[in-house]
Amino acid sequence: MADLLLRNATLPDGRTGIDVLVAAGRIVNVSPRINAEAAQTIDAEGQLLTPPFVDPHFHMDATLSYGLPRVNRSGTLLEGIALWGELKPALTQEAIVERALAYCDWAVAKGLLAIRSHVDVCDPRLLAVEALLHVREKVKPYLDLQLVAFPQDGVLRSAGALEQMRRALKMGVEVVGGIPHFERTMNDGAESVRILCELAAAEGRMVDMHCDETDDPHSRHIESLAVQTLRLGLQGRVTGSHLTSMHSMDNYYVSKLIPLMHEAGVHAIANPLINITLQGRHDTYPKRRGMTRVPELMAAGVNVAFGHDCVMDPWYSLGSGDMLEVAAMGLHVAQMTSQDGMRACFDAVTVNAAKILELDGYGIAPGKRADFVLLQARDPIEAIRLRAARLKVFRAGKVVAETPAATARIDLPGRPEHVDWRAPR
Ligand SMILES: [Zn+2]
Repeated sequence: MADLLLRNATLPDGRTGIDVLVAAGRIVNVSPRINAEAAQTIDAEGQLLTPPFVDPHFHMDATLSYGLPRVNRSGTLLEGIALWGELKPALTQEAIVERALAYCDWAVAKGLLAIRSHVDVCDPRLLAVEALLHVREKVKPYLDLQLVAFPQDGVLRSAGALEQMRRALKMGVEVVGGIPHFERTMNDGAESVRILCELAAAEGRMVDMHCDETDDPHSRHIESLAVQTLRLGLQGRVTGSHLTSMHSMDNYYVSKLIPLMHEAGVHAIANPLINITLQGRHDTYPKRRGMTRVPELMAAGVNVAFGHDCVMDPWYSLGSGDMLEVAAMGLHVAQMTSQDGMRACFDAVTVNAAKILELDGYGIAPGKRADFVLLQARDPIEAIRLRAARLKVFRAGKVVAETPAATARIDLPGRPEHVDWRAPR
């Protein structure tokens, strides 16, 4: 007998009246009116069943540290990095583990079951690396945590960083990171991209660099990243995160750059909440939005995902692990208000992000892992509009989080007893 039969769900691709049958933690059948016995049957009542949310860009070593040792007064990236530098010597492994585990609980409650987190390797003790490797094992039953060795202070600028990066990879960190725009010169930035891509190629690793997170239109490290990807045969395994300088670049240059990114199979990650907050801080008016060119990259065939990046840390004082909030912000900042545009913003926090992480067994189809989220919405657009309640979150076919449906109970004569704020059909 199967373990779970979920009846009458709507899928993100628009199929309705779909049943999903689960056995031994895997999906065995997805079709209308499945005739089977299961230990548990749940009626989805036509609500949206989606694969879990995936956050492709986060900093779990810094999360929930807001106010330690002080808040970011200027609101800039550079003060955030300085503040993190003040906090680092006072960090303990226990405190990092405790905060990270607390965040993972929030994430699961929001249907966020896979996170790629950068971890700072510019501390010779590699305290944060040890802490997050421990967290990765602890959360394995309910959340996939993938780690990126991130030289926050610059792999060339910070003494010993390259050696520490090698150590972190040996310890079990999966992905090679970088931050070329924070190196001392443009040349050093390009050199750091070459060194780090060669390291990744030699070790068979993916690459995900903080790249051009600046309003300076001349910050063009994404070009080096694409060229090194082609030279080393890393197509499909390399990601440029942030890419905010592309917002300010000359259109002619971008018309050459985007096809190069596509040719190299480089993925792009925008971090809408953070980019709209940190960028444009040196502007008076008009103030730039500072998010990369999301619709143009998507139209050219580049795989684009949205990340949360920060929650209550030196760079950002808000956030709750809600990837629908991330999608909504991306939609607004990029003005992606067409039907296709809004759906693409949902994909940016689900399937597109899963592709970047090379997640195994992701999706609602036979053979895939039985990880999915039942939302109080009928389609992806409504899910974004309502920041829909996560009615049930499933991991390997078991419910790991529940949220009651949002309902209003109005006790007045002539008013309906229940208000349904889903759009009329
Ligand atoms: Zn980041």
